[in-house]
Amino acid sequence: MATEQAAITRATFDEVILPIYAPADFIPVKGKGSRVWDQQGKEYVDFAGGIAVTALGHCHPALVEALKSQGETLWHTSNVFTNEPALKLGRKLVASTFAERVVFMNSGTEANETAFKLARHYASTRHSPYKSKIIAFNNAFHGRSFFTVSVGGQAKYSDGFGPKPADIIHVPFNDLHAVKAVMDSHTCAVVVEPIQGEGGVLAATPEFLKGLRELCDEHQALLVFDEVQSGMGRTGSLFAYQYYGVTPDILTSAKALGGGFPVSVVLTTEEIASAFHVGSHGSTYGGNPLACAVAGAAFDIINTPEVLGGVNAKRERFVKHLQKIDAEFDVFSDVRGMGLLIGAELKPQYKGRARDFLHAAAHEGVMVLNAGPDVMRFAPSLVVEDADIDEGMVRFAAAVKKIVG
Ligand SMILES: *Cc1c(COP(=O)(O)O)cnc(C)c1O
Repeated sequence: MATEQAAITRATFDEVILPIYAPADFIPVKGKGSRVWDQQGKEYVDFAGGIAVTALGHCHPALVEALKSQGETLWHTSNVFTNEPALKLGRKLVASTFAERVVFMNSGTEANETAFKLARHYASTRHSPYKSKIIAFNNAFHGRSFFTVSVGGQAKYSDGFGPKPADIIHVPFNDLHAVKAVMDSHTCAVVVEPIQGEGGVLAATPEFLKGLRELCDEHQALLVFDEVQSGMGRTGSLFAYQYYGVTPDILTSAKALGGGFPVSVVLTTEEIASAFHVGSHGSTYGGNPLACAVAGAAFDIINTPEVLGGVNAKRERFVKHLQKIDAEFDVFSDVRGMGLLIGAELKPQYKGRARDFLHAAAHEGVMVLNAGPDVMRFAPSLVVEDADIDEGMVRFAAAVKKIVG
């Protein structure tokens, strides 16, 4: 009893949670728009967006309303029954993308797990059981289930868990020749993030994605885009594939989809979807009414010219600030990414110290992310106010000064 009533602090984390994270030493308790407050009432500008999730900021009134109203109506039915919010959201996604069929899951990992199983099943049932090779990319990130982490291109995340799913091969990102060299009639799918997020905020070149499309067509393989991070307006297009003009066969999205409520989706064609039958795959929670009601409200706001069209002007403002910081402190070797997924790579003398910058930034009152040890990452709300960008960057500059100055 005594410990249950003791104050909740950062130390409580180490007492009760598995040691798989190293969270900041403050605990956020409240958010509004692009500002967050901690237990002590200290205010932060949020450029992290819960890792590209809170695309409309914290507690957006339309999302709060959708959550409240659905919360008083119907939370959960399981997929033994369907529900209106899921069907409405499915219709919106089909109307706005290449997709003819969608299925909802709860996380990016689950959407990718579904996509990879679907690709394998399609190849196995329509072509041959031996058509199982998945080509993926070094440094890619596709989630943490054993299949998705094995398709991901960082062995340190998949080693140490016993025998891995077989027939997955990794080649360098943006290297079409490397793909060509391993592509054959046994290839079932090529899996790629149009913009590698966790891997360092690296955008694919248009030629690369176009080349992958051609290779997949040539070898009857499926092209799978993991847009868990790049989707839902992050790049200024609803999905990055639309900007590139390269249409995948299967696309996954999650993070921004629910604006902070866990939900994910797999988009595909009718032909590919028909490889699955009742019982081929499933989820108890996937597409539950609460998640889909919130995601539906988020979708209606994000998929507008006002929000999508504002993304690149906000990006410009961010990049100008970063260039100014670099001009003063000489810290970045590259500022890159697309839309409001922005990466700033640290100069060689600061390599490996991204988390130091992140902690210094939090100390100054701005939440930022890293993408690996050498890249600072910014993934703010798509509707972040100019004043928030300016104030957050003043604070970030102060953090940079503390480290390099
Ligand atoms: C975050 C992410 C995932 C995993 O999503 P979870 O919701 O954490 O399971 C998969 N792919 C990409 C590209 C991501 O950025």
